Amino acid sequence: MALDEKREKSASFTPMMIEEDAALRNGSRGLSGQWADAVGVRPRTTERHITVHKRLVLGFAISILALLVVTMIAVLLSVRFEECSTAAAAADSPARASGNASLSGPARLNHGAGEPPGRQEEPPGEEEEEEWQRRRQPPPWTQVRLPRHLRPLHYNLMLSAFMENFTFCGEVNVQIECLNSSRYIVLHAHRMHIQAVQVAEDKLSGAVRVSSSFLYPQNQVFVVVLNRSLEAQRSYNLKILYSALIENELLGFFRSSYVLHGERRFLGVTQFSPTHARKAFPCFDEPIYKATFKISIKHQATYLSLSNMPVETSVFEEDGWVTDHFSQTPLMSTYYLAWAVCNFTYQETTTKNGVVVRLYARPDAIRRGSGDYALNITRRLIEFYEDYFKVPYSLPKLDLLAVPKHPYAAMENWGLSVFVEQRILLDPSISSISYLLDVTMVIVHELCHQWFGDLVTPVWWEDVWLKEGFAHYFEFVGTDYLYPGWNMEKQRFLTDVLHEVMLLDGLASSHPVSQEVQQAKDIDRVFDWIAYKKGAALIRMLANFMGHSVFQMGLQDYLTIHKYGNAARNDLWNTLSEALKKVGKFVNIQEVMDQWTLQMGYPVITIMGNETADNMVVISQEHFIYDIDAKTKDPDLGNNSYLWQIPLTIAVGNRSHVSSEAIIWVSNKSEHHRIAALDDTSWLLGNINQTGYFRVNYDIRNWRLLIDQLMRNHEVISVSNRAGLIDDAFNLARAGYLPQNIPLEIIRYLSEEKDFLPWHAASRALYPLDKLLDRTENYNIFNEYILKQVATMYFKLGWPTNNLNRSLVQAAYQHEELRREVIMLACSFGNKHCHQQAATLISDWISSNRNRIPLNVRDVVYCTGVSLMDEDVWEFIWMKFHSTTAVSEKKILLEALTCSDDRNLLNRLLNLSLNSEVVLDQDAIDVIIHVARNPHGRDLAWKFFREKWKILNARYGEALFMNSKLISGVTEFLNTEEELNELKNFIKSYKEGAGSSFSRAVETVEANVRWQMLYKEELFQWLRKSLAH
Ligand SMILES: [Zn+2]
Repeated sequence: MALDEKREKSASFTPMMIEEDAALRNGSRGLSGQWADAVGVRPRTTERHITVHKRLVLGFAISILALLVVTMIAVLLSVRFEECSTAAAAADSPARASGNASLSGPARLNHGAGEPPGRQEEPPGEEEEEEWQRRRQPPPWTQVRLPRHLRPLHYNLMLSAFMENFTFCGEVNVQIECLNSSRYIVLHAHRMHIQAVQVAEDKLSGAVRVSSSFLYPQNQVFVVVLNRSLEAQRSYNLKILYSALIENELLGFFRSSYVLHGERRFLGVTQFSPTHARKAFPCFDEPIYKATFKISIKHQATYLSLSNMPVETSVFEEDGWVTDHFSQTPLMSTYYLAWAVCNFTYQETTTKNGVVVRLYARPDAIRRGSGDYALNITRRLIEFYEDYFKVPYSLPKLDLLAVPKHPYAAMENWGLSVFVEQRILLDPSISSISYLLDVTMVIVHELCHQWFGDLVTPVWWEDVWLKEGFAHYFEFVGTDYLYPGWNMEKQRFLTDVLHEVMLLDGLASSHPVSQEVQQAKDIDRVFDWIAYKKGAALIRMLANFMGHSVFQMGLQDYLTIHKYGNAARNDLWNTLSEALKKVGKFVNIQEVMDQWTLQMGYPVITIMGNETADNMVVISQEHFIYDIDAKTKDPDLGNNSYLWQIPLTIAVGNRSHVSSEAIIWVSNKSEHHRIAALDDTSWLLGNINQTGYFRVNYDIRNWRLLIDQLMRNHEVISVSNRAGLIDDAFNLARAGYLPQNIPLEIIRYLSEEKDFLPWHAASRALYPLDKLLDRTENYNIFNEYILKQVATMYFKLGWPTNNLNRSLVQAAYQHEELRREVIMLACSFGNKHCHQQAATLISDWISSNRNRIPLNVRDVVYCTGVSLMDEDVWEFIWMKFHSTTAVSEKKILLEALTCSDDRNLLNRLLNLSLNSEVVLDQDAIDVIIHVARNPHGRDLAWKFFREKWKILNARYGEALFMNSKLISGVTEFLNTEEELNELKNFIKSYKEGAGSSFSRAVETVEANVRWQMLYKEELFQWLRKSLAH
């Protein structure tokens, strides 16, 4: 499953309008001709403005109409449920054919048609409760995990989907094996009507009478109480008839829609990970219960249906309905089962091993060729993974389904992976490199899961990082295969994964990468950046200290041993230790890795020179935490019990040369080491190429030597280490380990830096600092300092002139990304030339109605334009947002609207964001977060968030990842005492469902406030002094 990642875009900094620009806006100084044009287009945009309003009124009318239709559907629902039960009951099944199986009376009679799903069918009888009391045991349905006495072997699932009223009904026949004798069957089922249940002994055709059955919603289970016990070592058939809604939300079997030729079309699709299969059919919904599945879907012939396996036969009926029978799946877990009912079209290709790959999307997208790119790289990537893992792709086909609405960027259902359109459709004529990179990496990620996740599945959700960490790590390895020159694993991994997650994992409210979870409602919580990014960073560290080829061999063994089964982290550690043994190395991987996966956080290593003894250094480790006060507050953190076995690589360098690295395993609090060739003029560098998951600090003398080296000849230090030094220095300073001037001195060398990565690292590290300062009185001093560092490279590189074609992308990625990064910084911090250039380009677009803005900087230009120019530009972008059909363009236009410094417009946008007709549900979160990043909108977004919390929580509460993204996005840059109090008071009144996100938010804001108090003045003083020279 890929979370919706936003690789850093232009809007991460909101352009700062310095005073000159205020004048510029009024047309009094330095206006270019085109700028004047922009001002001159007022009448036209106003006209369009009215059109937009008309549309909104129309939208409102449509929503009222939709409400009426929904009410009518609700009335009709009872009728359809009746039909459902008849249809399902009429369906023939092995259990029914076997004869005298009895349908349980109470369960059948108990439900009223049209009742809201999820109601308890019948409470557990007193008799049952008493029996359990006598046994002094809790009843099996009250346990948070399923009891272990039964095991599903095979499911036959027959579904009928009624797209006209968004209901479905099903009949599931589960062949279960009884491991320990029991009178109870407990399996998951949630938000559905159970219409009938029967149990039969498999081979002897004997019915087992059902005494009662009931839903137990607290644990999302369905309980069948039998008259006699099931016997161990025998298998039984459990048959359940049920019906439910095709929900208008984002989980389970849900619906979504799009407009084609002016007509709204609907589709039904599933999202079962992690615990939502139980909303679509009664099942043993834990990953360990792997079984085979045979699915049939009945639907109107105007739709087509898809599932994990190919269609075996389709049976057409006279009344315009068709039933698709899919081939049986291999052994698999419920959470990556999937189906869809839609009227999409597709394109197809075949891998050299004969796997048929299809991309399904709305017909207009397929016609435009927006799926070509994804389909092409998917074919190549399957071949890559088959070769890398030495395990062939396991199914005959792989479908990629592009849907308009989805809670995550994508989901790796085996053989039917689902992607939100923005993460798979790509129109080459209007996509930037970063958009191409997003699409590519999400696809690489989901394909990796076909092996890590689908074929070999973590035993339980505590080790979700075993699949997500791998998939995230392979995003970089797989992209390197597609684009060999890009060095993703060696370079971009650092900024996008390592630096990013160390921000989060440096909080006292972080958690270990393996975290215990039991209850369904908590399971979503484990899908967070710690699992994804820390998981990936640990895997990368492991691959580096093992050596890549041994690591690869180990993975091949791991997949071969555990295919079609489940594995826990120790299975992986053992296989990897074995792989090392084969090449004559003996490392207890489990012992090392347990410290990294079972402890939260990470260490900071400090290397101190010893003045008295030559060549000797003291290397110490401690738990890195941003808020040092947290250590005094929390005894667990304060007692310094955190220790890691750290593979520290180290090198010694002088002006022209750096020694080859050596590895030192640091496992104590403090150790003395002798470093060869260390003398007065040479510096030390730790964590070579930043392959380790930790920070490195030095004595000030060594920092000075490193800065000196960067200024004289930075190329002596590798690109990744240059990026690493920047990130470490900014973050060590933020936490108070280093004086505030050190990071600012380091970035002085950037005027000579021609590589993208260090610029990217600097830009990302400056971002939180910028947000800490952007509402302060002296912000201009900081602004001026940054502009000074950026100016040389900005003028050297200039603006892109032409659009990139595919071959250029391959060759020029580094250069174009560098240019984009520098332009972004220049425009954000108020470089006048950059502002004028952006304004010129926007004006040209408005006056000619031809968008000639280079693709790779469009978001920067839109955002800068909206921020500097007047309301008409905002209206123009708003109108373009409505009229464009290309998903990539739509997203950056929407985000540009958040860059305005007009508070009325920002408020208007916030209010519109909750209208699903205007802004897609998954995009509304981004709108609110981006307004919060804008210094002019931070308090508006924060107020809006508090006022609308009930609505937002109802909408996103269940997809916990989205909720926590929203919470952190809105709060992370609050930095005044007053805001901190507001946050604490707000949490007091509402915190259900998002407790950990809120405690993280409080800690972050506390650290922000603390930084302001302790270090802000120190920083400004240094800046003043530095600028005076
Ligand atoms: Zn994933």
